[in-house]
Amino acid sequence: MSDRDGFIWQDGQLVPWREATTHVLTHSLHYGLAVFEGVRAYKTVNGTAIFKLKEHTDRLFNSAHIYRMPMPWDKQTLMEAQKEVVRANKLESAYIRPIAFYGSEKMGVSPKGAKTHVAIAAWPWGAYLGEEGMEKGIRVKTSSFARHHVNVTMARAKFAATYANSILANMEATEHGYDEALLLDVDGFVAEGAGENLFIVKDGVIYEPEIASALIGITRATIIALAEELGYKVVSKRLTRDDVYIADEAFFTGTAAEVTPIRELDGRTVGEGHRGPITTKIQSLFFDVVNGKVPARANWLTPV
Ligand code: PMP
Repeated sequence: MSDRDGFIWQDGQLVPWREATTHVLTHSLHYGLAVFEGVRAYKTVNGTAIFKLKEHTDRLFNSAHIYRMPMPWDKQTLMEAQKEVVRANKLESAYIRPIAFYGSEKMGVSPKGAKTHVAIAAWPWGAYLGEEGMEKGIRVKTSSFARHHVNVTMARAKFAATYANSILANMEATEHGYDEALLLDVDGFVAEGAGENLFIVKDGVIYEPEIASALIGITRATIIALAEELGYKVVSKRLTRDDVYIADEAFFTGTAAEVTPIRELDGRTVGEGHRGPITTKIQSLFFDVVNGKVPARANWLTPV
């Protein structure tokens, strides 16, 4: 990823891609505290636009607030910088990665004395769980690793160290031949995917796990709004892994994963074993929205 042409916004300016580096004694590299976002820009019918830029930027600042990480830039500056990075790299569609981290000014667990640095990169990134998965659905395995308890790390923050847990789960699932992991919370109830929120459909009603130890996904909020617009009831409740086994349909949502149908969990076919009709409708409306084809939702798109 580091050896390519382009520009990365780093601490207030665009720097050539290969020069956007940091020291090996970077505090966040050692202790795992860096807050970040995953954002997408789409090639819409009205030109390139960033989806839910404000929501992602707000979450970045909330993550920093939770960890008491001082942010050296205001939201407006970082929103402009995200647009600038897409333009500077001449991208029609992109995955955007803003990250705020503590630098190499000091060592030791306490970040006191370390400075917050901010970088924003953008690059093309297609379907996170594969084009085929988008159409046919993916195979998922319940992880033997539990999602963080709400008082271990902070579930409302999107921060680097939490992804060690996602990596354990994803490695385990993919090494067993599955596409992605589903994590349960410490009480054994469904939490979320390694990088996605989950929805299931049963008897025409859409269910999602109560958001406790899961990240509050921005795509999740989008899907709830769109599903309700389509006339579906969306219910949050504690879900078990076998609720998913006997669901009619299931799908993951996330900025990277977008809307990815699930066709199997732990060797059990979910529903008919392919993308279900309600998932198809929601997925199709989601792509219409992000591609700028739904004027009523144009306010979710910020032109770059
Ligand atoms: N859960 C986890 C663990 C994630 O990493 C992500 C991706 N950011 C999500 C859920 C979905 O969040 P969003 O829709 O905001 O991308």
